[in-house]
Amino acid sequence: MRILAFDIGGTLIKSAIVDEDKGLFNLEEHSYPEPGRDGILNILENRIDYYNSEIDGIGISTAGLVDEEKGVIILSSNGIPNYTGTKLKEMYELKYNKPVWVLNDVNAAALGEAHFGAGKVYNDFICLTYGTGVGGAIVINKQVYGGKNGFAGEIGHTVTHLNGKKCVCGLYGCYNDYASTKALVENCSQVDFSIKNGKDVFDAFSKGDIKIKEQIDIWIDEIIYGLVTVVHIFNPPAIILGGGIMRQEYIIDEINNRLKNSILSGYRDVVVLPAMLGNSAGLMGASYNTLRRKCEKK
Ligand SMILES: [Zn+2]
Repeated sequence: MRILAFDIGGTLIKSAIVDEDKGLFNLEEHSYPEPGRDGILNILENRIDYYNSEIDGIGISTAGLVDEEKGVIILSSNGIPNYTGTKLKEMYELKYNKPVWVLNDVNAAALGEAHFGAGKVYNDFICLTYGTGVGGAIVINKQVYGGKNGFAGEIGHTVTHLNGKKCVCGLYGCYNDYASTKALVENCSQVDFSIKNGKDVFDAFSKGDIKIKEQIDIWIDEIIYGLVTVVHIFNPPAIILGGGIMRQEYIIDEINNRLKNSILSGYRDVVVLPAMLGNSAGLMGASYNTLRRKCEKK
């Protein structure tokens, strides 16, 4: 069976064909010609029309809060105009007469890692992704645990700083605003005005910039505050960290060392490891979900 998979982000849509036997191919990246719902739907329909005769279903990973049973965007978290309320599943099942399943992007990436990536050897783990915010997913028995409304795992909105910065969610002091890659870049750019992104941070670090290393070390402590909570609540065998920045060896090594010194002794066999699938995790997870759902229906 073949699934056409999409990964819809704030500025870019990725698409690929995932074949049950041959894996992922024809990976393409599409930037929006126009930001917002219409731009997204144009790209999706263009690719579905193109591959329609070759595919058995469609799997979509998308930014935002998603009703995964109904395939509806409940809230477009990164402000994609007019995207909230879009009924992707209903629209495309009617139009193309193929199964369509939609997942939140962090849940899709976690599912991808669970079956094809760093989580392959674990039944249970916690997946956290660090970027403009911090996303989270709880994987139990190789499935993402959704909670009552399907929104479980928003670890980015646990409060780690009393009376801290105001978060987009309305709370103050959320983990998001201290442990995200965005927070690290902002802090480093105050020390060195030329720093614009995560790559700049690690270029400076690898040249031995002491002030940048200081900022990175403070930021790693911020990461640890969240992980300590996660470990004590879930006692997971593994925590998988996604986001480009987690490919830095120094970060993962430091997190493992510092975490073990910050948690109770009974929990210290937890392993923290970087995600393996990188950019294709969401596509792999979304296609796996559609394949599984399609087989269940038979
Ligand atoms: Zn928040």
